[in-house]
Amino acid sequence: MVREDEKWIPVRVALRCRPLVPKETSEGCQLCLSFVPGEPQVVVGNDKSFTYDYVFDPSVEQEEVFNTAVAPLVRGIFKGYNATVLAYGQTGSGKTYSMGGTYTASQEDEPSVGIIPRVIELLFKEKEQRQDWEFDLKVSYLEIYNEDILDLLCPSRERSCQISIREDPKEGIKIVGLTERNVTSVQDTVSCLEQGNNSRTVAATAMNSQSSRSHAIFTICINQEKKSDKNTSFRCKLHLVDLAGSERQKKTKAEGDRLKEGININRGLLCLGNVISALGDENKKGGFVPYRDSKLTRLLQDSLGGNSHTLMIACVSPADSNLEETLNTLRYADRAR
Ligand code: ADP
Ligand code: MG
Repeated sequence: MVREDEKWIPVRVALRCRPLVPKETSEGCQLCLSFVPGEPQVVVGNDKSFTYDYVFDPSVEQEEVFNTAVAPLVRGIFKGYNATVLAYGQTGSGKTYSMGGTYTASQEDEPSVGIIPRVIELLFKEKEQRQDWEFDLKVSYLEIYNEDILDLLCPSRERSCQISIREDPKEGIKIVGLTERNVTSVQDTVSCLEQGNNSRTVAATAMNSQSSRSHAIFTICINQEKKSDKNTSFRCKLHLVDLAGSERQKKTKAEGDRLKEGININRGLLCLGNVISALGDENKKGGFVPYRDSKLTRLLQDSLGGNSHTLMIACVSPADSNLEETLNTLRYADRAR
């Protein structure tokens, strides 16, 4: 994807449809999506169709999703390109499964291992092949909850108020006060992932008790310096984002505090949609991109557009009971292309 002969595409969109889950099967849900073999196309009912850069039907496993859509972005890091992978979709559509946000070491080598552990593995493999370069890797893991930033690697309440977003002329967007761990091995890095996964804030909703109303962002900052020439160096960022559920509020019966969370979270998703569509729109090249309208887009500002490759994975359920939300996701993703 990062091949120089190819047209530069800042944002690619993958549609991923998970299989029916046991609950849907036992409730007698019917499939409402079908797939066109060999085409990156999904058909809703029997007339409406949508085309994306990639379409992964329910039979496609984690490894194929990773190899097809994500691995090229990881390789791009070594050529100096930032990379951002975003999982979008309603609660229960497979965002956390796809990203690997429930990863534990006991899951190692299983086919169900998600994107983040696979990214880590490939990153270190590629790094080992570059012995003439010096690498410095740092990991952070945060959550945006109610427009507050929480440090998942140091999850104490007091810390959240000390975290702020600044723009550094050299380093780009910097999150002041956030824990950054130096990592030198796959094990170091996945243990940061495990620790952060454990501290994720989850709020039960009527739809899914594991539902998260927050955006979780796992970031690896990579500094590369040529050993023979200290002046040849570059710095890249890799963001792996498990977005908050995109569902409308009424369906989750959210009330009180949780409703307020929902409104703020939707602001992030709304701004992200605006930013991504502005980036993808040829006519707006060099035009205004509204990064500053939410914490999410502000934080990702230097990693969306510019010198960055972005992959949005739109996750959907195949069940007819979710048709309305699935259509919303398909449209959001369509706008991003
Ligand atoms: P979300 O994070 O979007 O709320 P989850 O990732 O928690 O959704 O997925 C909901 C359920 O569906 C989980 O039980 C998960 O294991 C299952 N699931 C999601 N995607 C897949 C998939 N591609 N293959 C098998 N099971 C999946
Ligand atoms: Mg989730």
